[in-house]
Amino acid sequence: MIKVEIDEGSGFCFGVVTAIHKAEEELAKGETLYCLGDIVHNSREVDRLKAMGLITINRDEFRQLRNAKVLLRAHGEPPETYQIAQENNIEIIDATCPVVLRLQKRIKQEFRKEDFEEKQIVIYGKNGHAEVLGLVGQTGGQAIVIESAEEAKKLDFSKSIRLFSQTTKSLDEFQEIVEYIKHHISPDATFEYYDTICRQVANRMPNLREFAATHDLIFFVSGKKSSNGKMLFEECLKVNANSHLIDNEKEIDPSLLQNVESIGVCGATSTPKWLMEKIHDHIRLLIKD
Ligand code: SF4
Repeated sequence: MIKVEIDEGSGFCFGVVTAIHKAEEELAKGETLYCLGDIVHNSREVDRLKAMGLITINRDEFRQLRNAKVLLRAHGEPPETYQIAQENNIEIIDATCPVVLRLQKRIKQEFRKEDFEEKQIVIYGKNGHAEVLGLVGQTGGQAIVIESAEEAKKLDFSKSIRLFSQTTKSLDEFQEIVEYIKHHISPDATFEYYDTICRQVANRMPNLREFAATHDLIFFVSGKKSSNGKMLFEECLKVNANSHLIDNEKEIDPSLLQNVESIGVCGATSTPKWLMEKIHDHIRLLIKD
């Protein structure tokens, strides 16, 4: 019999669990609830909450809204969002993850220091990602975003640098950036770095690699927009070339299920457990043994 196993360590991180609980709690009161952006980078979970009444809106729609209740998701928001809410009588249900909130505060403190003009606040993260927009917003848009170690080369090494990271970036690449800056910073400038990578993602890697390596075939379940999904999937691929990224059960290619003895189902911090279970059951149906 072919073994099909779900990775115990995969699934929502506590930040996402809290945001979804808050949404469910508010929806249970029967009032209209809006969410600024997708509550989680997983379309199936977004659809589930939509069916319960959650209305997802974009930034333009948020600006037009008056006298309403809006949930802010775990990624966090820039100060401007809170200001608009205040002006337009919008009640905020703030589900910003405490890890992200702490990071926002640290960046804001750094920005408010008197010597700000003499230094660069650098954020290792994805340009345009919701969390990064919230972080850059703490500096009035002045922080520099670098997406990779390669981009660290464009920094001005004659000026002091304070380096932070988006919570879901790769620890290895962060360390690579730190080393590069250490070797290039001018003796007249200072360099301080803060490892602000969330361990909910980083700590999953060793277990995930082990899980992926012990199966013949891996289905990694994640929304295509999820940053941590992309990164964790890359980890699976490193140890098991027969790893496949899927968003839902319809994306399973049945021909992959031939000539394998064990199949693993795992996912990102934005992947609901129920979806992995659904995929597990679907695979069982397809292999019919
Ligand atoms: S990955 Fe970490 S920082 Fe991001 S929402 Fe989850 S717990 Fe919070």
